[in-house]
Amino acid sequence: MVLDVVIIGGGPAAVSAALELEKKEVEYAIIYPKNSIKVCGGLLEPETIKWLMDRSLEKCINNSLVKPQKTDLFLVDLIKKEKNIRKKYITNIDRQKFDEELLNNINNDRKIDGFINKIKEFNGIYRIEYNGSFIETKHIIYAVGAKSVFLKKTPRLLIQNYYEINGKNLNNVLFVLHKKIKGFYLWIIPKGNYLIVGSLGESRKFFNLIVEETFKFLKYEIFIKKIIKREKGLMIFPEKNEDILLYNNKILFAGESAGLISRKTGKGIYYALVSGELAGKYYDSAQLYSKSVKSLIEKVNHKISEANQMYYYS
Ligand SMILES: Cc1cc2nc3c(=O)[nH]c(=O)nc-3n(C[C@H](O)[C@H](O)[C@H](O)COP(=O)(O)OP(=O)(O)OC[C@H]3O[C@@H](n4cnc5c(N)ncnc54)[C@H](O)[C@@H]3O)c2cc1C
Repeated sequence: MVLDVVIIGGGPAAVSAALELEKKEVEYAIIYPKNSIKVCGGLLEPETIKWLMDRSLEKCINNSLVKPQKTDLFLVDLIKKEKNIRKKYITNIDRQKFDEELLNNINNDRKIDGFINKIKEFNGIYRIEYNGSFIETKHIIYAVGAKSVFLKKTPRLLIQNYYEINGKNLNNVLFVLHKKIKGFYLWIIPKGNYLIVGSLGESRKFFNLIVEETFKFLKYEIFIKKIIKREKGLMIFPEKNEDILLYNNKILFAGESAGLISRKTGKGIYYALVSGELAGKYYDSAQLYSKSVKSLIEKVNHKISEANQMYYYS
């Protein structure tokens, strides 16, 4: 049987596309590996919360909350020795749980556990190969995040360390600018009893040092006890409009696979949800999809240019 649509991926972009397809009479499937680890800061912006609430998906938020809640985000500039509030009311979640909750909203009959390794096209029909099996479809919504093989940009490696701490708990999210982190910043995110500390690439060897320097500068009585876990994740940062790829014949790209992310915002999840929903709505009309995503692209581009001015030290 040839399906109408196959969604590849199991993140927010894929799920919101699936939720939209559920409203239509289409034969579709969603394929993703069931046990994939999500490397993420797990911060939701007010816009993301609103988007989820408007679609009665608040359970995904409520069941994945971690402390502290409704945190503010401070930009700590250790180069200029300044601290400013950057954002208010960020919601703190466990990203793994959040994605699981999102996926619970999709009918189990639609889900296939698989990792796609090849897509071939014959006479307008796509044959998608996974784990020694295959499925055929007329349309594809491609939402594999930073694993996209279609985007020409090379994914960047991000590292996160999980620390156990001593002293009082941190109540805010901190983004830290420091000379040792070239071209990027370091984030310190409290998650219950531990801290996530992350940044781009090889800067991890300075993590402890910068965290200690940050707490000293802020006069916080918090000390690193031990490292619990290290993880690596990929991210693709578009640098200009042309790096955003929305469709290719009958394949629509959504979320990070389209390049809808920027290094300045913590809105990757929001961009994924919005673009995924639109991909589900216009799965068979690429031009309309492209038009409908336009305002999102403008937002991403605006953030990219702001980020270029703000975070880039050489
Ligand atoms: C370190 C880090 C911190 C971040 N912090 C935040 C934050 O705090 N807030 C925020 O909003 N955003 C954050 N982001 C960005 C955010 O994680 C992404 O923008 C968002 O996850 C994109 O959603 P997506 O659905 O496009 O892709 P993803 O969430 O990456 O989902 C991709 C899915 O595709 C599946 N997949 C991959 N390859 C295949 C394949 N070949 N076959 C089948 N399935 C496949 C994966 O298993 C996964 O289920 C962060 C990213 C990183 C790396």
